[in-house]
Amino acid sequence: MVVEIFDGTNAEEIIEIYKKTHPNIRLTFVSLSGIVLNDSSDFDDFESHLDRPELKNLGSVNIRYSESLDTHMMYLATKSQDNYIRIAIPVSTLNEVVNSFLLSAFITLLFVLFISSILINIVNKNALTPLNRELNKIAYLSGHVGSYSDNIDQISHQVSEIKLLIDRKIDAINDEKQKINFLINNLNIGIIVINNQGDIILANDFVLSINDYKKQDILNKNYNYLIRNVNFKDKINDTIKKGLNFNFDYEYQNKIYLVTIKTIDSKWTNELSNKYGAFITMTNMTEERNLEKVKREFFANASHELKSPLTTIIGYQQMIQEDIITSKEEILDASKRTSKEANRMHQIILEMLELARLESKEDIKVEELEMHDIVLEVLDQLEHEINAKKVKVITNLNKLKLFMNQNHARYLVKNLIENAIKYNKDSGEINISLVSNKFIVEDTGIGISEEDQPRVFERFYRVDKARSKEQGGTGLGLAIVKHIANLYKATIQLESKVDKGTKITILFKK
Ligand code: ADP
Repeated sequence: MVVEIFDGTNAEEIIEIYKKTHPNIRLTFVSLSGIVLNDSSDFDDFESHLDRPELKNLGSVNIRYSESLDTHMMYLATKSQDNYIRIAIPVSTLNEVVNSFLLSAFITLLFVLFISSILINIVNKNALTPLNRELNKIAYLSGHVGSYSDNIDQISHQVSEIKLLIDRKIDAINDEKQKINFLINNLNIGIIVINNQGDIILANDFVLSINDYKKQDILNKNYNYLIRNVNFKDKINDTIKKGLNFNFDYEYQNKIYLVTIKTIDSKWTNELSNKYGAFITMTNMTEERNLEKVKREFFANASHELKSPLTTIIGYQQMIQEDIITSKEEILDASKRTSKEANRMHQIILEMLELARLESKEDIKVEELEMHDIVLEVLDQLEHEINAKKVKVITNLNKLKLFMNQNHARYLVKNLIENAIKYNKDSGEINISLVSNKFIVEDTGIGISEEDQPRVFERFYRVDKARSKEQGGTGLGLAIVKHIANLYKATIQLESKVDKGTKITILFKK
């Protein structure tokens, strides 16, 4: 400021102004030769000032003891208008300035701290309280009852406590998951879950065993990898795209599965779209379906078998009633025929009942019996038929004790010997043997062709229907024999040649 207003002549005026306004400041005007021209202090100093450090180093601050003022001063000098201008201030004055600065800084600090604590409180309320509320919620969901304070010091403790609770929950969930996986994989039902993109997200062990697949071969892959059947694939496609449900039988590798396809909520797959996921179950129904088929066929055959004798009976009755046959001989003949048909019906019904009893496996009284005696008993019963056909019976009967139901043993022996008579040639031969655990009936009859051999054990199957009917056969005999053999875990062997004869061996379990 002094340099600004000093014009080379007004040194005295400037000093007067400074004396009034800044009495602490000493202002000195020095000639270039070092003579003090004007000085705000009243102290007379005629020495040359050129050696003073502040004049030697113009512009830099210099602190030193001033003898003339008897105090430490801070000096600064500059050159202006062919003069040196020097300004000096006692160091003590400077300390006062610094002290007053420190005081105001301290007050400002206190003020800042005060404002900060208010702000922290607001942050606490606005941020920590909701955070704490959330922590309480998580703790509650994790099974911890009790509340958490919103003290910031406790937050980390709370978080680690909640982490522990969550860890425990995750362990429990993993435990549950393992149990569910075990159940799913040990079910006797196939389970497949497909997401709405058509990818397989679950397939249990049952499904994998059907196709002999490994989990990694199909998981997260399109369902086309697993299901090759066009009809099955179309249905899955309809479920995913149109949300349709299905229920159908699916034949694969000689097995029949009941398949159900149901839509599943898209939430499962975390995708919002207008497509659906598919939940598929596969139940092996092979046995049930085969049984149903056998039953259906059995009823159809049974109705047919019963219908034909009944039609004959009704026919003769009508002829008698409508006087179509009138002579005593004709009526006698009609009566013989109707009674033969009625007997056949009776026989069919008896054998059907026998089959039903065998299938229900109820009340089977098993006792130790001697097969040797049973064979002789049956041969005795069949004496009339043997004589009528003039067949020669050769026996080789050893003793064979078996645990069997009397009726079953008798039926089995009787049916095989009866067939050997029925389907024999006149004056043919029958060989009956009981050797070790085998019962063998061999005849020299008409024989059974190779293609018919596996079928003669089916219900109502007869190679020559007319011949069987003529002989009073029902077509159920061998089916019953097979059932009886199965019941006692015996095996049946059939050897036969057309026009040569038939040999049937029942191999009993030892
Ligand atoms: P059926 O009451 O007709 O004799 P079966 O079940 O006992 O019924 O026998 C089924 C069919 O098997 C018979 O109709 C016959 O064609 C054939 N069959 C059974 N045993 C013999 C045999 N010993 N020789 C030739 N064919 C036989």
